[in-house]
Amino acid sequence: MRGSSMTDIGEFNEKLVLQTIRSSPDGIGQSDVVRRSYLSRQAVSLITRRLVADGLIEQAGRRISGPGKPHTLLRVVPDARLAIGVHLDPAHITVVVCDLAARPVAMVSLDPPTTDPQADIVRIAAAIASLNRSLGAMHMDADDEVIPIRRRLLGIGIAAPASLDATEGILRNPPWMPGWRDVPVVDALGAATGLPAILDKDTNAALTGEIWSRHLGSAQTILYVYVGHGLGSAVSANGQVHRGGSTQAGEIGHLPIGRTSEPCVCGRRGCLCLYTDASVLVDQARASGISMPDGDGMTAAIDALSAEAESGSEAAHEIIDGHGRALGEALRILAAVHDPQRIIIGGPTWPALRTVASAPIRAALGEWLSGPGTVLESSHLGDDVGAIGAASLFLEQELAPGTGASAAP
Ligand SMILES: [Zn+2]
Repeated sequence: MRGSSMTDIGEFNEKLVLQTIRSSPDGIGQSDVVRRSYLSRQAVSLITRRLVADGLIEQAGRRISGPGKPHTLLRVVPDARLAIGVHLDPAHITVVVCDLAARPVAMVSLDPPTTDPQADIVRIAAAIASLNRSLGAMHMDADDEVIPIRRRLLGIGIAAPASLDATEGILRNPPWMPGWRDVPVVDALGAATGLPAILDKDTNAALTGEIWSRHLGSAQTILYVYVGHGLGSAVSANGQVHRGGSTQAGEIGHLPIGRTSEPCVCGRRGCLCLYTDASVLVDQARASGISMPDGDGMTAAIDALSAEAESGSEAAHEIIDGHGRALGEALRILAAVHDPQRIIIGGPTWPALRTVASAPIRAALGEWLSGPGTVLESSHLGDDVGAIGAASLFLEQELAPGTGASAAP
């Protein structure tokens, strides 16, 4: 499903130069690009001229540094290219259009997935068409000369819960999405929109979104924990997300966390999911007599639980605190396994849980937090991280150097 659209900047060196400039949003001098990219001055000069002609970068004024003549700064034109992110989540479908900095320029939230994936894909394609019309955005055809330089659409990144086959673009058996079994979502949405599409796990998408939008990653190991209906994790080193052999890395729901009280559907006891699944929190809240909203809107239910805790309900506080203690124990184990410098917690229900859950998590991670340079933080992308991350997946595939199979030779 890879389009021919980016062959004009498909060279590895071009992507490297683009990434070097992109990492300095305030602008970077050409000599600094030469130094950081290890390319020759002639190569950088040639490439930057092509990127300027392509509309991807522009001159951003001049900087005077020491004696000698001031040098021209280069910076990326954020809306030169756009990517679409689709987040398929049991609680909602979010469609976002992001610029090159992974900033949303348009977004729409749709009703949750139904048991009819074909109808859902038609809905998503209609939403994409509507957003694109509103932005004047168009898919860039290799031989179409009339499309304006700005607002060119690259394609669609799709983020979904596991299990899925990223290579084949098929959603295998996502939990809490009955009806979505073995759905070839990449081909279906590609056919419905005429755009190239790729698929990855929501956890990997979320971490990619953090790395892409904040230029994280160089020489850093990052552990991301995604808090939604269930928990998932993702790990990156040097800006590359580790996906495992079958895109199943980071499935931590059945991690044993040292408790033995509860039997799990998997046949063992004390799995993480028994203490952290959103449905468990809602059941605990109902059992404690806390009023939960009707229907199956999980995000709304967690919001209600959080509001109860904030207005002084000890029972609500205790339930969220228990979530934090279980997650903290899991993070303590994962930090020992992966040795990250940075831990990011995000996902659709985390904004509602973080006020109460952060303290027990910090307590569990005490030893790791006392290490040199470690950072524990909440996602900067809020509860739309799945959709923004999905768009970032496509930006990364098309524009980042050295992204595995999709990289230029
Ligand atoms: Zn289990």
